[in-house]
Amino acid sequence: MAAEHAPVPGSSASGAPALDLQTRLLHAGKRPTYAGGTAVNPPLVRASTVLFESTAQQREMRERRAGERIFSYGARGTPTGFALEDAVSELEGAHRTRLLPTGLAAIGMALLSYLRPGDHVLLTDSAYQPVRHLAGQWLRPYGIEYDFFAADGSDAQARMRPNTRMVYAECPGSLVYEMCDLPALAAMAHARGALVVADNTWGSGCQYRPLALGADVSVMAATKYLSGHSDVMMGTVATTEAAWEPLAARCDAFGMAVSPDDAWLVLRGMRSLAARLQMHEAHALEVAHWLQQHPAVATVFCPALPTHPGHALWLRDCQGTNGLVSLELQPGTAEAAVDRFIDGLRLFGIGASWGGYESLATAAHMAQARSVTDWSARGPVVRLHIGLESPRDLIADLEQGLAAL
Ligand SMILES: *Cc1c(COP(=O)(O)O)cnc(C)c1O
Repeated sequence: MAAEHAPVPGSSASGAPALDLQTRLLHAGKRPTYAGGTAVNPPLVRASTVLFESTAQQREMRERRAGERIFSYGARGTPTGFALEDAVSELEGAHRTRLLPTGLAAIGMALLSYLRPGDHVLLTDSAYQPVRHLAGQWLRPYGIEYDFFAADGSDAQARMRPNTRMVYAECPGSLVYEMCDLPALAAMAHARGALVVADNTWGSGCQYRPLALGADVSVMAATKYLSGHSDVMMGTVATTEAAWEPLAARCDAFGMAVSPDDAWLVLRGMRSLAARLQMHEAHALEVAHWLQQHPAVATVFCPALPTHPGHALWLRDCQGTNGLVSLELQPGTAEAAVDRFIDGLRLFGIGASWGGYESLATAAHMAQARSVTDWSARGPVVRLHIGLESPRDLIADLEQGLAAL
């Protein structure tokens, strides 16, 4: 069909035979030319196959891609993903960054990249809970031993073994935000030849920077504050120059890649990260101070509060806090009453995760989330994520919710 249609411009001028419409449809509009300026944001580049000018160039790019960032195949990263990697490296003070489909995948790849059968890893007691599951499901069956150490790091040195290859920290910790002295932990680990990996989702690069404090690898769930809108999953692993190669090699070997659409969304979210965190912090502090004077509340957990056990370290090592505030209800509060409180909230969504613009409430099961620290004698804990809503409205909502206890 379509021999009578005009050929692709250039093909007839060059004397080549006119192409059929079905061929021209495949080649037209691939490289539009235009005059003018540039968009504020980098373009979204979707790709699996990447085309080269010649076989020689293809060969050269394949040879160079082990050591350099080369656009050679979608699974090796796209220009959109590279843009996000650069932004995260800037945020973390890192040599380079890899992107993974979720925060948990980023943690998994960090463990997989640096640990071998026969190695031992020390995991913080305050780790994001699925890390415990990952340790039991994968580390042990694959011959990698692990122990948990106290969230404040006090027993880490005593738990080191000759084959300890990694100390895995999360500071401030999940759920109740324990602080550890990361520079001291890193000095101890490095003296024993172990690497320090830190989960930096809480700090998200603005409020805490593990690489500047001595860690070798920093992992973030970009799902949370970096994306900031509860509509995309992403994990990042940022490393020092010395720690880069094993991570890059393992991610390539396993074909780890992210969608450029998702990378574009996270990059968009990051432009307002610092501004959003300032507002989350201000609102969270207002709510935290109000909660502290409520008789139903035994403890308010937020490292920015002088009553928090990690407050001095927070002052030294953090640039601020975020929207997370947890509260311990009075010991003896029945589980049904906790449910009534959470179910009675009108402005707080009931859901896990956090870091979006909206407020959330979820029960935290501390006895299951900690194995070194004993939580059995304490009251039930509820984690709040304070969003960008008016804090006055949130406090009024909490007031009526706590009344339902
Ligand atoms: C949410 C979270 C993760 C996991 O992120 P996903 O993208 O949900 O897989 C890891 N670490 C911490 C501290 C988190 O809060």
